[in-house]
Amino acid sequence: MSDLYQTIANSTVGNKMLKAINLPIPTLLERYQPEKASYVSGRVLVGAAPGGTATGAILHNLKEAPEAKASTLAGLDAAPEVEKAAGEAGVTLDNYKAEREDETKFKALVFDATGVNNIEELRALWDFFHPVIRKLDKCARVLVIGRTPEKCDPEKHTAQRGLEGFTRSVGKELKKGATSQLVYVDEGAETQLASPLRFFLSAKSAYVSAQVVRVEASDFDPAGFDWKQPLQGQKALVTGASRGIGAAIAQVLARDGAEVVVLDVPAMADELKQVASRIGGKTLELDITAEDGPQQISKLAGELGGLDIVVHNAGVTRDKTLGNMPDKFWDMTLGINVRAPERINTKLLEDGNLNTGASIVGISSIAGIAGNMGQTNYGTSKAAVIGMIESREKELSERGMTINAVAPGFIETQMTAAMPFAIREAGRRMNSLNQGGQPVDVAETIAFFASPASKGITGNIVRVCGQSLIGA
Ligand code: NAP
Repeated sequence: MSDLYQTIANSTVGNKMLKAINLPIPTLLERYQPEKASYVSGRVLVGAAPGGTATGAILHNLKEAPEAKASTLAGLDAAPEVEKAAGEAGVTLDNYKAEREDETKFKALVFDATGVNNIEELRALWDFFHPVIRKLDKCARVLVIGRTPEKCDPEKHTAQRGLEGFTRSVGKELKKGATSQLVYVDEGAETQLASPLRFFLSAKSAYVSAQVVRVEASDFDPAGFDWKQPLQGQKALVTGASRGIGAAIAQVLARDGAEVVVLDVPAMADELKQVASRIGGKTLELDITAEDGPQQISKLAGELGGLDIVVHNAGVTRDKTLGNMPDKFWDMTLGINVRAPERINTKLLEDGNLNTGASIVGISSIAGIAGNMGQTNYGTSKAAVIGMIESREKELSERGMTINAVAPGFIETQMTAAMPFAIREAGRRMNSLNQGGQPVDVAETIAFFASPASKGITGNIVRVCGQSLIGA
């Protein structure tokens, strides 16, 4: 569904009128275009607190984005840290002077805060960001890399935890489609930053803001990895794929090189076939809640030589306030949204039909984080999806697999088009980007989780909600 307000706000006359009466202008977000040469193009300013260990990885990855130009902030205490890492990574740095008259705009500000050991040292954030935060380009990125707090000594843990409040608050101050994120990396896992750097600095994360991702060590080696076709040779299953978010997921996974099986209920067979023919994929017409649903999926997975990616996208809403809700609404919503995914995971694992390195991705919702009136059933099911990620993480890690979830906010689909006008407009505007997301935004985040390059990323929930004001 198109967003008329956004169209008007981005026309010459409409833009002037809305600005004059102080109404928000939802920027047309830049989205990923495969033909673009690199994942970030424009000037990137890199800084580091003394003792940071991630700067080398940041610069090394920027080197592979030839259109990006890294600079240091002259006069900043931490600059020697960046210069040393640049020397090691073989990156030539511009020396950027943060003078007021300098009009240089930045496509990204990246700060290595892994060296921050205590509250006093958090001051490095102000030192780095304060002089340049107003110099961001359209759809720019703020990215802070920190050290996983729970794995630090108490003083460092306290300070590192503070980074969450910083990145989330910055996200609320940014304008013109810019976003802010935090990546916590374990000591020694810096090479695993390649995937989150590419995702969060690129247009793939257009509608993701104020999120926190944790990165652990893994055996993924970024050297020689094909970032244009990251899912080459992977076999994927996407449920509920005949339309909306599911169809977009199938398309993005196929674009990235995966062979995709699209699944939906038999009543959606025609639409499902159309999706499959667009991406050269296979179809499976099945109600995932059928008693033998997991067996049918596992049998097909076995015939394909095992699955590498499973995306549990199929989901329904059956809204009523609790007192008015018939039991069938409760049973159906819980059954489709979380019981079926659990049964499918169990069966695939039991039968050994998930390949080593496989990735499972669930779809939660901001309603599962914040709760929503009239959605006790949906909210329960979507919070339980988060429980499914938490409860499976350890077991899957031991098998060399990952499990994560996305939690979409307001996404422009048939589901949200059916909302009453006032609720729909409120859902669209109540986020830092003042607009709804597109199905492709959810799909890109899922492709990020599903990539073999994200093997060090498990047990994470990333909201795709433009930093919705609802929820955490
Ligand atoms: P959608 O347009 O309703 O598509 C969901 C698809 O799943 C439909 O084709 C549906 O078929 C299918 N499905 C339902 N029950 C099934 C079953 N038992 N077996 C197999 N397929 C089944 O929904 P969407 O908006 O794309 O949402 C996709 C996912 O994102 C859902 O999990 C949803 O909860 C989640 N989400 C969406 C939003 C949003 O703003 N759109 C926000 C947060 C989370 P039918 O025609 O039978 O329904």
